[in-house]
Amino acid sequence: MTELPQHVPTDRLGVLIAAYEYEMGSCFRCPRKGTQVTRFGEITSDEGETPLYACRECVQELLTMHERAMERMDTRPRIVQLPRAPRGVEAD
Ligand SMILES: [Zn+2]
Repeated sequence: MTELPQHVPTDRLGVLIAAYEYEMGSCFRCPRKGTQVTRFGEITSDEGETPLYACRECVQELLTMHERAMERMDTRPRIVQLPRAPRGVEAD
């Protein structure tokens, strides 16, 4: 078995993806479980909020979608690092 070389991001999108803090978990967007995910958003209602964690591959797709949508406006995406939500905490 050959080990993959360590991927060092040099492109702008890669740098953006690497800027997120990752932890082990399940991706909200694809079936990956037990993979590196970052908190990417949340669903909110009057009862509370459910954090959404996305894996690197989905973060890349979401950032690419955002960049394509913003292309005409000549703006760049910026990282908003959402706080980690404690797992298994019940709402009051
Ligand atoms: Zn994913």
